[in-house]
Amino acid sequence: MSSPEFFDHGDLVAVLTTQPLGRALDYRAPEGGCHAGAFVEVPLGPRKVLGVVWGAGQGDYDLSKVRHVIRVLDAAPMRDEMRTFLERAAAYTLTPMPAMLRLATRAPGLGDPPSMRKIYRRGEGEPDRMTDARRRVLEVLADYGDLSFTLKELADMAGVTSTVVKGLAKQGVVREEDAPRDMPFARLDPALPGKELTEDQAAAAEVLAEGVRSGTYGTTLLRGVTGSGKTEVYLEAVAAALRQGRQALVLLPEIALTEQFLTRVQERFGAKPAEWHSGATMTERRRIWRMVGQGHAQLVIGARSALFLPYQNLGLIVVDEEHDTSYKQEEGVLYNARDMAVLRAAICGAQVVLASATPSLESWANVEARKYRKLELTSRFGPAVMPKMGAIDMRAEGLPSDRWVSPTLQREVNTRLERGEQAMLFINRRGYAPITLCRACGHQIGCDHCDARMVEHRFLKRLICHQCGESKPMPEACPACGAEGRLAPVGPGVERLGEEAAAIWPEARIATLSSDMYGSARALKAEIAAIGAGAADIIIGTQLVAKGHNFPNLTLVGVIDADLGLQGSDLRAAERTFQLMRQVAGRAGRAEAPGTALLQTYQPEHPVIRAILAGDEEAFWAAEAAERKAAGVPPYGRMAGIILSGPDVAQVFDAGNLLARRDEPLRRIGAQVFGPAPAPIARVRGRHRVRLLVKAEKSAPLQEGLARWVAQVKLKGELRLAVDIDPQSF
Ligand code: ADP
Ligand code: ZN
Repeated sequence: MSSPEFFDHGDLVAVLTTQPLGRALDYRAPEGGCHAGAFVEVPLGPRKVLGVVWGAGQGDYDLSKVRHVIRVLDAAPMRDEMRTFLERAAAYTLTPMPAMLRLATRAPGLGDPPSMRKIYRRGEGEPDRMTDARRRVLEVLADYGDLSFTLKELADMAGVTSTVVKGLAKQGVVREEDAPRDMPFARLDPALPGKELTEDQAAAAEVLAEGVRSGTYGTTLLRGVTGSGKTEVYLEAVAAALRQGRQALVLLPEIALTEQFLTRVQERFGAKPAEWHSGATMTERRRIWRMVGQGHAQLVIGARSALFLPYQNLGLIVVDEEHDTSYKQEEGVLYNARDMAVLRAAICGAQVVLASATPSLESWANVEARKYRKLELTSRFGPAVMPKMGAIDMRAEGLPSDRWVSPTLQREVNTRLERGEQAMLFINRRGYAPITLCRACGHQIGCDHCDARMVEHRFLKRLICHQCGESKPMPEACPACGAEGRLAPVGPGVERLGEEAAAIWPEARIATLSSDMYGSARALKAEIAAIGAGAADIIIGTQLVAKGHNFPNLTLVGVIDADLGLQGSDLRAAERTFQLMRQVAGRAGRAEAPGTALLQTYQPEHPVIRAILAGDEEAFWAAEAAERKAAGVPPYGRMAGIILSGPDVAQVFDAGNLLARRDEPLRRIGAQVFGPAPAPIARVRGRHRVRLLVKAEKSAPLQEGLARWVAQVKLKGELRLAVDIDPQSF
C-alpha cells in the first residue's frame, strides 16, 4: 500500500466536516503538515469542529481568507479505501457527504484516551425549567439513543458548559454513573479446533476459506435451513481471515440478542470478539473504534453501523440473516447494510458471505445473474429434521372474539407439556392490544403526532406509538367523549396472549419475550439463555424470538396469526411473510426431538400460506420472481422513493406536484414517476410526508437522473427531501 498523500505546513487542503455545508472547505495545513485522511480540528465560524482532510484544496475562493487547521487529532488517518467507500456509498444513496461522514465518525473525542470516572446518559422526566442549553443537551442524548458520554463529551457536543449538564444530573433528567473500565481485547486463536464438520459443511467451508485466502473480492450466498450449520461454516471463513492476519466483521440483525452467539465465538476462538451496537456506551464505542483502527480488534460482531468502523485490513464480511429488513436503515442516511457490505468489500478486496435460510429475492437474482456464488447446506445437522408444517383453519375452530389460542393448538401444546418439551406461541405484535377503543363513543385512541394508533402496553402501564415512540399514561376516561371506565382493548398483542396462556395453563411456566419488557439488552439476553436451559415450558414471543436463538427442547411452534403480514398493499408482503413463517417454524425441533409448526389462519388456501405449508421454496420464489419481473420492480427493475416532509401539508404537496410536473430529467433516462401520494407513514412527529416513486429499467443511470430532478425543489423553511434508493415497500 502506498502511504497517503502528505501536505506541508501552509498547503491548501480540502477538509470535510459533518456540518451540513455540502462539500469540503479549504484550509491551510497546520504546522508539521498533515496526511490525506487525517482527523483534524478546524475553525468554522466561531466554532471548532471535527473534520477529515479529504485531499488537496480547490483554491477557488479568496486565498487571503483561508484559515489554518487548528490541530491534527491523535488518531490514525482515515484510509484511502474508507474515503472511497464513503464517496461511492454517498453517490449510490444520493446522500450528502457530511451526512455520510457522520456515520464514520460516531466515536467523538477521537484518539483522546478516556480518563474520566463518571459517565452521563438520559435519565427520567423533564427538567423543572426548559432552557435552550438544556434542550440541546437532551437533543444530543435523544440523537444517540442509549449511549453514555463523559461530562466533557456531552457538554462539547451540545455546545454548553458542564454546569448545564450537572444541573440536569441533579434533577435526574440526566443520569450520572460510574464509568466501566477500559479493558483490552483478548486475542482470538484461529488455531483452536472447531467442530468436526460434516462433508457438506466442510466442502462449503473450504470454498469460503479459499476465497478469503485469495485476498480478492467475491460474494457468496450461503443458503441452508436453520440448524444446518451455516454459522459453523462461516466461522471457518472467519478463522481463515484471522490466520491471514486480516480482520473479520459479522453483521447480525438483532445485535442486542447475541449472548449465545458470543459464547459460540468464544468456544471457537477462545476469546470474545468486539461487540458494536447501539446499546454500547460512548466509552465502549470509542475503545472499539480505536482497537479496530489499530488492528487489535480481529473480529467485530455488530449492527449495520459496524460497516463504518476504520478497519485496517478487512478480509471478510458476513451478513447473517441477509434478508432481514432491519438491515435497511430507515432514518437519516437510507442505506441497506447488505448492499453496503458488498460495496465495501469490493473496494478493499474482501469476501462477503450472505447467510440465510430464506434469502432475499435480490440475492437470488444476483446468483442468477452470476454476480454471487451460491453454496447450499441441504440438511440439518445431526438427527434434527425440518419441522412438520400444518395449518389450523380458524374458520372451523369457533373461537370467541377475545380468544386467540384455538382448541386444536391447545391440545397440541398439552401433548408437549406432558412430554416435558417446550412449546412456543408466536405473534408479531408488541404490547397488550393494538387498538384501544371507547365502548361508549367508538373512538380509537391515536397518536397526537402520527397517523398511527396508540398501542396499550400493560406491562409498562402506558400507551405507546410504534411509529414515533410517543408514549403517555393509559387514561381513565375516553379523550373524545369523557366516558369513564369504557376504554377496552381490541385485538391481541404478545402481552395479552401471555395472559390467555396463563389462564389456559395455570401450572405451566410461561415466559413472555418482547424487547420492551426487559429493562436492558443484558436482562433479555439472560432470560433467553435461561429459557434455552429449560427455565420455561411455554415461550410467548414476537419477531425477536424468530431469529437465531437455540432452544434445543422446543418441539412445537404455534403461529397465532399467520395472516397478519398478508394484509396491506406492500408488494414485498408475500416475501416477508414467507421468510418470517419459515424462520419461526425453523425454531422447532433442533435437537433429537422432531418439531411441528402450526399456522393458525383464516385463509389456508392463500398461495403464500400454501407455499409455506408445502415447504416448496423454489416454487414460491419462481412465482414471486415472475410477478416482479412482469411489474418491472426490484430486483428486476430499479426504484427510488422520494419523501418530502414538513409541518405544512400544502407546502409539502406543492413541492411534490412540482416535481411530478417537471419530470424531464427522469424522462431522459426513461424513468417514470408516480405520485405524489401520502407516504406509507403519512405523518410522523407532526411532520406530513408525501412520497413520489420513480421506476426505471435495470440499466438506467438512476442516480444521475434523480439528482438533476430533485435539484429543482427549493428546500425552503422546514421542507425536507429524502431519497430512498431501493425502498423496502413499494
Ligand atoms: P445455522 O446457522 O444454519 O442455523 P448452526 O451453525 O447454528 O446452524 O448449527 C445448528 C446447531 O448444530 C448448533 O448448535 C451447532 O453447534 C450444531 N452443529 C452444526 N454443525 C455441527 C457439527 N459439524 N458438529 C457439531 N455440531 C454442529
Ligand atoms: Zn406517533
